[in-house]
Amino acid sequence: MKKKIFSGMQPSGRLHIGNYLGALRNWVALLDSYDCIFCIVDYHAITIPYDPKEMQSRIIEAAMDYIACGLDPKRSSIFIQSEIPEHTELAWIFSSLTPMGMLERMTQYKEKSEQHKKNVNAGLFTYPVLQAADILLYKAKAVPVGEDQAQHIEFTREIARRFNHHYGAIFPEPETLLSDAARVLGLDGEHKMSKSRHNDIALTDSPEEVWQKLSTAKTDTQRMRRSDPGRPDMCNIFSYHGFFSSNEEIQHVKTECEKAGIGCFDCKKILAKNIDETLAPIQAKRTELENDQDAVWHVLHQGAESLRPTAQKTMEEVRSAMGLR
Ligand code: ATP
Ligand code: MG
Repeated sequence: MKKKIFSGMQPSGRLHIGNYLGALRNWVALLDSYDCIFCIVDYHAITIPYDPKEMQSRIIEAAMDYIACGLDPKRSSIFIQSEIPEHTELAWIFSSLTPMGMLERMTQYKEKSEQHKKNVNAGLFTYPVLQAADILLYKAKAVPVGEDQAQHIEFTREIARRFNHHYGAIFPEPETLLSDAARVLGLDGEHKMSKSRHNDIALTDSPEEVWQKLSTAKTDTQRMRRSDPGRPDMCNIFSYHGFFSSNEEIQHVKTECEKAGIGCFDCKKILAKNIDETLAPIQAKRTELENDQDAVWHVLHQGAESLRPTAQKTMEEVRSAMGLR
């Protein structure tokens, strides 16, 4: 039997190259060696302000991005969180095992409540509890995520330990699987690239949009003039080369930047070409999917149907262990 993995993304905006490099690309690489479950976590996405009219299109957009990046529905289950109500039921149970202090320490909560000062809601606060339920409902043994989620997976392990201690050993303690690009900085060069911060390059961006975003993106702040030697190791744009450019190009950019042989414009041009080349096949596949969205909805509904028995079985075990039924 293959080891089970679970992961998900929020339909909180267009997926971006940080989501791709930090998670999606890794998910695709794991398809053959694991029993894979991939979720679109809409109940998580309602914890920040959003337009209800856009939610369904965001969900299908995320699903199309998943599949366009190489997630094969034949080798994984892809589904929408809210189609399986056991996620929220288990979250309630886990919330009774969660000390408030543990949630107060969560970095994502601190950052998001800072970002959305007018809407610091209890859902944002208990987000990691629902995430623990997402993972443990299927007894997943590992969770491929970006670095920003590592703290939540550690929290999930703690919840599994607490449940097992109080009610009997039901849950595994899942491990975190990080990709080799676990934290991609945003175009602001300051924060993690995020859907909700608008500091991203989206997977759907055209070459014109990629260039428009790159051309104004921050580089080495001390390089004021074209004739100043640059410091690639202090430059966010140079870090992107590490993800998209060949070794020769990376070496060329580094050497030439350091002796002011090339300017930031030239460096960005090479990067833009390489990002476009990475995105082109994804976008081509996505266009095919856009023309047959019913098939994508079908994949999502099928995914939920295939997982429902497992979710229900776990909840039966949980209720029975807790003396609830
Ligand atoms: P939001 O701003 O709404 O939180 P997000 O861009 O952070 O959106 P999520 O849906 O929260 O995306 O996360 C989906 C997955 O992508 C998670 O595994 C997360 O760790 C990963 N991820 C998100 N941003 C990055 C990033 N900048 N670098 C690497 N991985 C990332
Ligand atoms: Mg996030």
